Formats: sequence, C-alpha cells, structure tokens
Amino acid sequence: MKKNASLMLNGKALAASEERQLSERVAALRQRPVLAAIIVGDDPASQTYVRMKADACRRVGVEPRTLQLPATTSTQTLLTHIKALNEDAEVRGILLQHPVPTAIDERRCFDAIDMAKDVDGVSCLSFGRMVMNCTAWGSATPAGIMRLLAHYDIKLSGCHAVVLGRSPILGKPMAMMMLNADATVTICHSRTRALAERVKEADVLVAAVGRPHFVPSDWIKPGAVVIDAGYHPKEHCGDVVAERLPEITSAYTPVPGGVGPMTINTLISQTVRAAEQSARQPQPTL
Ligand code: NAP
Repeated sequence: MKKNASLMLNGKALAASEERQLSERVAALRQRPVLAAIIVGDDPASQTYVRMKADACRRVGVEPRTLQLPATTSTQTLLTHIKALNEDAEVRGILLQHPVPTAIDERRCFDAIDMAKDVDGVSCLSFGRMVMNCTAWGSATPAGIMRLLAHYDIKLSGCHAVVLGRSPILGKPMAMMMLNADATVTICHSRTRALAERVKEADVLVAAVGRPHFVPSDWIKPGAVVIDAGYHPKEHCGDVVAERLPEITSAYTPVPGGVGPMTINTLISQTVRAAEQSARQPQPTL
C-alpha cells in the first residue's frame, strides 16, 4: 500500500500570508504601534534576530524601536529602561532579547515588563496565566508552533507529545500549551534517562535542545509529527537530522522556514492585538 505523503509545515508561507492581514489591521489603527526591542551586549546572533524582527515590523507598518545597551549594563539600569518603556504610551510591545550577559538578573528584568506589553510572553505572570488558561500573551516560539499546528489542522487531543528541552522561553511553555490542548505530555531534558526510548514514543515531537543534528532519524516513530525549533546558523540546520523526515513522518517543519518565521510573526501579531486592545479602552476624561 502506498504511504501518504508527509506534509511540510511551511511557516514561511503562513507568516507571509498573515503579514498581509496584519498590514490591513495596522492601517486601521489611529496610531502606529511601536515594538521596542532591547539588546544588551553585541552577540551577533541576537543582532541578527532583532534585525529580522525589525524588518518584519516594517513590512506590516509596526514601528520597530531598538535600544542597544552595552554588555556592561547593570540590572538596575536595564530595569530603569524597561520602566520607561512600560510608561511610554506609544510602545505596545516590549522585547528583551534573550540571552542577556550573565551578570544581569534576566528573570528580574523579564518580570519587570508590564504584562499588557509582554508580547514575547516571558514574564512569570504571563507564563502562570497562560498555564491557567487565563488571558496572557504566549511565549512567541511555542505560541507560533501552536498556530502552525492549528493552521494545518493537526489535532493534539489524546496525542503523546514529547518536548525535548525545558527552557523558560521554549520547552516549558511549549509543554504547557500542548497540555492545555489535551495532549499527554512528556518533557525531556539533560538528566532524562533512556532519552531515545522517550523520543520514540512521541506522536508529536518538539525538538528544542539547541544542539545541531541531535535527534537521529531512528529515534522518530513512523508517522510522527516532528517540529524542529532548533536553529544553528553556522551548520544551517536544526536539532533534528532532516534528510529522512519526508519519508518517516506524517508532518514536519523545515529548517529554515518552519518555526523561525512563526516566532517573529507571533511576536508582531501579539503587538498588533495589544494595540487594538488598547485602542478599545475608553480614553480617560479630563
Ligand atoms: P536552552 O535554553 O539552551 O535549553 C536547551 C534545553 O535542552 C535545556 O532544557 C536542556 O536541558 C536541554 N538539553 C541540553 N542538552 C541536552 C541533552 N544532551 N539531552 C537532553 N536535553 C538536553 O535553549 P532554548 O533557548 O530553549 O533554545 C533551544 C533551541 O531553539 C536553540 O537551537 C535555539 O536557537 C532555538 N530557538 C529557536 C527559536 C526560533 O524562533 N526558531 C526561538 C528560540 C530558540 P537542561 O534544562 O537539563 O539543561
């Protein structure tokens, strides 16, 4: 019997089509929303990611504002900048590019972002509310993955989802979003025993381990859905060995062109929704 063809989950195409709708929504706003990005230090990957986000902002009419701070910035100084952005009425979204230099208390700075402007979903408050199914902006990469799965009508209810990685911005929120979508979720990390066996049980696998070619083809259950969130610019690959994915899986994300464009699009889409919500608030009477 002929096997059904595997579906490539094209994040690049979905993000491009979403951008067309976002442009129309931004044009309908009275004020052009600002997405403020803070980069601390001169990590070249961070510079590239912030530039890509700024380019995507411009394509839909959102104004990107980049605050470049030196690597020697203290936690206190960074908190002062975040406070100023919280109070700036033009700014609808705030992005603190991860990672910041190790001397900075990144968690404290993430948590200082006003929840209404936390369009990257990085604060404990946003995370906790998302877990409890309350209104909050989702962490951009996992929320982008959920949008990609929904677009291709991939149902998670009853599936065994395995998330490889438990970082605060990716693995942990991913696992909680999949749990909220009624998947049975296993979270794997560097202390997980018999990792290959756990991964082989996945109906849906999300690889967010940050190591090139970490997951070999023979760890993947035939017919599984494979989401590769990893990206390694030097090797130009993700966390999963990609060659045989079209023949083994029922659906998979390419690298590049899968998760990355959805992350950026989700960040901007959440900024536009934040601006729309703010526009609906009654203006204070003097
Ligand atoms: P991270 O903070 O370094 O977390 C990596 C996770 O993988 C940790 O939970 C770690 O476990 C686990 N891990 C490391 N080595 C392992 C091993 N040998 N066996 C099992 N688990 C292991 O990375 P991240 O920020 O989540 O990013 C992960 C990947 O996603 C990176 O490639 C990054 O570039 C990519 N990313 C992509 C996007 C996008 O838009 N496409 C956005 C963000 C990140 P422990 O917790 O036990 O240390």
